[in-house]
Amino acid sequence: MRRILFIEDETGFAVGVRDRLEAEGYRVEWAQTGTAGYEAARSHAFDLIVLDVMLPGRNGFDVCRDLRRDGVNTPVLMLTARGEVADRVVGLKLGADDYVQKNCEPIELMARIEALLRRAGGAAAATGANVAFGHVRVDRSRHEVTRKGKPVVLSPVEFRLLEYLLDRRGAVISREELLENVWGLDGDTMSRTVDVHIAGLRKKIEEDSRYPRYLLTVKGAGYKLAG
Ligand code: CA
Repeated sequence: MRRILFIEDETGFAVGVRDRLEAEGYRVEWAQTGTAGYEAARSHAFDLIVLDVMLPGRNGFDVCRDLRRDGVNTPVLMLTARGEVADRVVGLKLGADDYVQKNCEPIELMARIEALLRRAGGAAAATGANVAFGHVRVDRSRHEVTRKGKPVVLSPVEFRLLEYLLDRRGAVISREELLENVWGLDGDTMSRTVDVHIAGLRKKIEEDSRYPRYLLTVKGAGYKLAG
């Protein structure tokens, strides 16, 4: 399920858009201030951020600029006020991927979201076919992993786990999120499953699995792939 972070303070508008997105099958996290949105975008992985310009506290431009500065590369769709050409230009300059007028038809908003997700997915697949960290190389199209040039045999679930973390490199991913998206399970049960598979993956890709350099545990939060 694709996750969208929606940063907007106007309740009526926000609830309408959120409901529509959820009806389309997206999972939506709604942040009502720029600061809350910024924190959410930094600490969790999303497939897309829909960001209003006018926000209390930190405005949308600041949020976008700061996220890019922090290395968060999640696609950003900026919501601009009617006819504010300057908004669009500034937004794109600060690292937004696209913009849409807030008063557009809902169907257009949905179309822009879809288009941006498709573009981002296509770009990730194109550039992410071969990925490397440390001595590990992952060929995604062939499902092959090597470490120091030697093949590493991963189980299908280990491969999915590694791929999921790779797609969100640097972000902290909770056990619940991994369970739901890698295993398709409900996060409240069985979080040991994740730990067991992380341990298995470490043995295969880390130099010394007792002192992992890449597949890191973030206390109280989950895991992340560094490097
Ligand atoms: Ca607003």
